[in-house]
Amino acid sequence: MKKEFAVIGLGRFGGSICRELSREGMQVIALDIDEQKVSEYRDIAAHTVMADSTDENVLRELGLRNIDHVIVAIGDNIQASMLTTLILKELGIKTVTVKAQNDYHEKILNRIGADHVIHPERDMGKRIAHHIISNNILDYIELSDDHSVVEVKAGRKMKNQTLIDLDIRANYGCNVVAIKRNKDVIVSPKANEKIEETDILIVIGSDKDISRFEKNLVADN
Ligand code: ATP
Repeated sequence: MKKEFAVIGLGRFGGSICRELSREGMQVIALDIDEQKVSEYRDIAAHTVMADSTDENVLRELGLRNIDHVIVAIGDNIQASMLTTLILKELGIKTVTVKAQNDYHEKILNRIGADHVIHPERDMGKRIAHHIISNNILDYIELSDDHSVVEVKAGRKMKNQTLIDLDIRANYGCNVVAIKRNKDVIVSPKANEKIEETDILIVIGSDKDISRFEKNLVADN
């Protein structure tokens, strides 16, 4: 059975989630208070609704109870975002993901029961900052406040060395959890695995350790 989602707030962020979920064949209800936004998604989402999501009766009548996951992507109006989240959780929606504007907003969203709080602008800023440090850092994903995963091109400094030669775990406190080599992925590589210049390493660790690893083995590579 197709999974069902609702996206509330069809700005750039909510709109892009709605498009992608629909493109992947999911059933999406797209809701916005703005008529023009709603009409933009008429041919994209399975259902479109023009409504104010802070109106409890509207959400109740939509029968959102059967929806697997609701994404609240109302940005500027923090009050509307919080009230919508509260109503959705009171209606018994299992998973509610909410876009937060700032730390204060995030704190309250967590208190009122949001299941996931996301900060797309802040997170994208961090990813880009890491990419700017070195062209060899391909991606950066935050796991928690102080742990991350990075995807790096091995480059010249690591070329022809084994993981034991580099001893990344002892020297930097991080772990190479996988190596992408051409079309293959070597999961949990062995200590004697010889690194090739064009390999892509997936490295997990604390931000402090990853930062040392980036500076010494990746940057200016
Ligand atoms: P983005 O950066 O994703 O473009 P944003 O963070 O600037 O968006 P807004 O443009 O403030 O966020 O809001 C996103 C959408 O949410 C808008 O299309 C707006 O009409 C809609 N919206 C705001 N309040 C409500 C509400 N109470 N009910 C439904 N939709 C709402």
